Amino acid sequence: TFLSHSLQAKMSRPVQAQRLEGIDKNIWVEFVKLAATYSKVNLGQGFPDFPPPDFLTEALTRALSGGNHMLHQYTRAFGHPPLVKVLAQFFEKLLGRDLDPMTNVMVTVGAYQALFCCFQALVDEGDEVIIIEPFFDCYEPMVKMAGGTPVFVPLRPNPPKDGKLMSSADWQLDPAELASKFSERTKAIVLNSPNNPLGKVFSRGELGLIAELCVKHDVLCISDEVYEWLVYDGKQHVRIASLQGMWDRTVIVGSAGKTFSATGWKVGWVVGPNRLLQHLRTVHQNSVYHCATIAQEAVAQGFQRELMLYGKPESYFVQLPKELQQKRDWLVQSLADVGMKPIIPEGTYFLVADISQFKSDVPDVPNSDEPYDYRFTKWMVKNKGLAAIPLSAFYSEAHKNNYTNFIRFCFAKEDATLKAASDILQKWKQEKTS
Ligand code: PMP
Repeated sequence: TFLSHSLQAKMSRPVQAQRLEGIDKNIWVEFVKLAATYSKVNLGQGFPDFPPPDFLTEALTRALSGGNHMLHQYTRAFGHPPLVKVLAQFFEKLLGRDLDPMTNVMVTVGAYQALFCCFQALVDEGDEVIIIEPFFDCYEPMVKMAGGTPVFVPLRPNPPKDGKLMSSADWQLDPAELASKFSERTKAIVLNSPNNPLGKVFSRGELGLIAELCVKHDVLCISDEVYEWLVYDGKQHVRIASLQGMWDRTVIVGSAGKTFSATGWKVGWVVGPNRLLQHLRTVHQNSVYHCATIAQEAVAQGFQRELMLYGKPESYFVQLPKELQQKRDWLVQSLADVGMKPIIPEGTYFLVADISQFKSDVPDVPNSDEPYDYRFTKWMVKNKGLAAIPLSAFYSEAHKNNYTNFIRFCFAKEDATLKAASDILQKWKQEKTS
């Protein structure tokens, strides 16, 4: 009969939307699985294994069990009012300009969705978007899904001559190369400072160069600043939106996950001019609508506390980078001891290390074009129990073969975790010398 027939009928037409072509491979799936299977210590994926601050979890508990049961219901689509209000107050301070919480701020499901809204709302079929390499890997597929064409420009390493360890500041844009990527087809540039994976904190001079090109070519800037509080050695995070001519063309992307060490809450935001944010609201309204009310309420309270303690020693935004800087220094030392060459990050909780000294330890895989950093990372997790991420995963297909001598570690970890990593590295060192 017709019914039984149609129940069995398999679809034969292609089901995948064309826009997904070429973006269906994702390295996280493979490396997260490898880490789960083999690692004793996982310094791969970028999230803390320590708890968020007490004031934040207490705020969540209060929101959950306090008298206001409406916190279990929908809230305003573009951001829970207490959260957009305090974010506006906070960013007024940081940017030195008046902000309207209703039109200059929008809350998203993590910085991830903030980025997705930016590309969907601002990038058209055929538009070019400049991405600085190495980059947080989702920028490329997100530009493509919006119909845009990513145009890549690499940070180029300039090793210091004195034999000292390299710093993320030694990775720089070539000004002429950067300028050559801008044309009338360029719609936007993605800036990520402090940068994942290198930890580079762009200097005022470097940002000035980018800003000048944006103004000259009338280009937008999507400024991913999720690591804005994680800067070390007294360095300052400069916000490109505060440079001449940039407010009007910049969307700032932020993350409570990174800011308050609570990545699972998935609360993020955008800050920018209404003429840009109005279009992001259209995407958000018609896709996600809003993120959990109760998480937004707790993050709002976290920001209220931080606003009160701004710049004071008790502020989490002051304390967290201090703690992380010590963890960074510890991991730098442990990696250097075993013969890797860590690149000292100026910011973020990532650290990239040069592994070119280990080529003879890692077996060649016959008939494979797998890059050395992939092979090394797999070998290290299987043989040493230490998980990291190959750096070439943060490069475009065209450039990844130039950067296969590095891997990325995350040091937002409990001291016990870092101690376990350092023990592995010590043992490894002894094996090498014996
Ligand atoms: N941007 C960068 C540079 C990141 O590293 C991450 C998280 N790894 C995100 C955005 C996404 O942040 P969220 O967890 O808030 O979605």
